[in-house]
Amino acid sequence: MSMRANKDMGVITRTVAFKGDSDGYFTYECPFCKSAFKLKIAEMKDNEKAVVEIFCPYCGLTDTITHFYTKEVIEHVTQIAKNYAIDMINKNAGKIIKPLKKENVPVAAELDTVEQEFECIYCKHHIKALYHAGASKIFCA
Ligand SMILES: [Zn+2]
Ligand SMILES: [Zn+2]
Repeated sequence: MSMRANKDMGVITRTVAFKGDSDGYFTYECPFCKSAFKLKIAEMKDNEKAVVEIFCPYCGLTDTITHFYTKEVIEHVTQIAKNYAIDMINKNAGKIIKPLKKENVPVAAELDTVEQEFECIYCKHHIKALYHAGASKIFCA
């Protein structure tokens, strides 16, 4: 059977909204040292331009922000994309095949954790990092 749906499938961009923790922070994970830290969502825009590169507060290495997404975030986005594809297939091939079942996507919510909140003395941005790393060793993201 040829998939008619393919013809209609362009590149679909969807915005997935994530909720921060109760202080408005969102979790990132360093791709180099695998340490988790949190940044304030409201401060992730600089002069209305979204931040594209961040520094790890622990090892100071920098990469594009997409490399700092946690496994949970990537899985969540993948699942939403999968369900969307299933919707498309069911819509286009529903009369030919049995509708595919979608997997439930749990709501991505941030948990409040025990990290310490820091404020950068230069740019006044906020960061949550594990306290035992020591305030003097924390890099500004
Ligand atoms: Zn790191
Ligand atoms: Zn700073």
